[in-house]
Amino acid sequence: MKYILVIDQGTTSSRAILFNVNGEAVGQAQQEFKQIYPHPGWVEHDPIDILSSVRSVISTALTEARVKHSELIGMGITNQRESIVMWDKQTGEPIYNAIVWQCRRTMSRCIELEEYKEEILKRTGLKLDSYFSASKIEWLLKNVDKAKELLDRNRLCVGTIDTFLMWQLSGGKIYKTDYTNASRTMLYNIHELCWDSMLCDLFGIPKNILPEVCPSSHIYGYTDQEILGFKIPICGVAGDQQSALFGQCCFEKGDLKVTYGTGCFLLMNTGSEAFVSKNGLITSLGCQTNQKPSYVLEGSVFVGGAVIQWLRDELKVISSATESEALARSVENTNGVYLVPAFVGLGAPYWNFEAEGLITGITRGTNKAHITRAALEAIAFEVNDVVEAMKKDIGVDILTIEVDGGAIGNNFLMEFQADISNAYIARPKNKEVTALGAFYLAALELQLFDSLEEIKLKNPIERTFIPNMSKEERETKLKGWNKAIRKASLK
Ligand code: ADP
Repeated sequence: MKYILVIDQGTTSSRAILFNVNGEAVGQAQQEFKQIYPHPGWVEHDPIDILSSVRSVISTALTEARVKHSELIGMGITNQRESIVMWDKQTGEPIYNAIVWQCRRTMSRCIELEEYKEEILKRTGLKLDSYFSASKIEWLLKNVDKAKELLDRNRLCVGTIDTFLMWQLSGGKIYKTDYTNASRTMLYNIHELCWDSMLCDLFGIPKNILPEVCPSSHIYGYTDQEILGFKIPICGVAGDQQSALFGQCCFEKGDLKVTYGTGCFLLMNTGSEAFVSKNGLITSLGCQTNQKPSYVLEGSVFVGGAVIQWLRDELKVISSATESEALARSVENTNGVYLVPAFVGLGAPYWNFEAEGLITGITRGTNKAHITRAALEAIAFEVNDVVEAMKKDIGVDILTIEVDGGAIGNNFLMEFQADISNAYIARPKNKEVTALGAFYLAALELQLFDSLEEIKLKNPIERTFIPNMSKEERETKLKGWNKAIRKASLK
């Protein structure tokens, strides 16, 4: 048998998933690693921890699935985006911990750069924020002596996690990244498809130290026999969100996926056209499988499934996330209650860091079922706000939404999303969409599939939720939600 090995290097754990040539996962292993918080708001990972967790899950997945090295034909990598690592070209040793996407240490620096925000948006499609890699790289160059020393000696390597892993697994032979990862650094010009000279100068980053950027489906090079015990091509690479979009078979312009995890992540394929959002969204590069660049519009909701964790852990009205469905269904409606989970402000499309969470419309008759139902509805309302922003930006209606993530098991949430967005909600059979994206990218390069259509046929839908709410009811509910959002946004 032949297998493709996919590495899913996430923020809290590393996974290895083995796919057979039909895209069925036949084995997997997962390992968490340490989160390092040196100061309030700072988040780091030890790159050696990341690397050893990756090596360990590869070996466990192979052993448990009884797959031999000789049966592996290729590797795909999908990874946490924006996080940045620096290492020594000669020894491979990291010179500092990885600065993770969540890390806010460069927030004040980004505020200083405010006057460049329009230019940054125009060139990179991104909002000026410490979330992206540029200011993290600048910080390392300014604050870590070893970085300066290695730079002077022409020995400094810097990259996102995909680049670091490829470099390490190839024994230093691959120094590359893909378009999706490059587009999250805030240094990459997404229109001209090159590292942007003006931005590299702005952040004091020499362009020549940055890795080569390649399409997501591409032979990047080979794993090193001595390091992993097998030599196979690394041929599919993408940042996690873009990989999930590809894994959901969102190959056409207007195709949209929503990931319902701790937060909610919405990505829409906008084809070969880069839409610069007028409605609080960001633009990035999508997975590229041919000569043409592919663009995505992205919006994130900070608190998604996390509101259900809050009901469980703080309010203690449920003992598991799953219970929220039955409790919500135990009442006919929220009885006028709206919950805005603006625990850390509001993300897209509002971008209001001062907004505060609230529960509104409570009466003497309000009970925990109403609040739970309002919490689930809030997730759908928040997602819908981003969907509406996307519709406005690209000027077309959205008929179907592909879904993934931990909370999609909640049928009530899926039904309500269909109703409130007046769209079909398609839940795939294969829930491993992030890894599946990297698998498809690798499989396309290895010519296991002839076309994207052929891939689509292999990706069945488990269930479609059909909208079933009158226009009047939807409008009334949306009015109530918008009123609650306005209240949450008042200082
Ligand atoms: P992440 O990748 O962000 O860690 P997951 O995709 O694993 O998140 O999803 C976990 C989130 O989904 C948690 O916030 C949890 O509260 C929520 N969740 C899981 N199951 C349900 C459910 N049945 N109903 C509502 N929310 C759920």
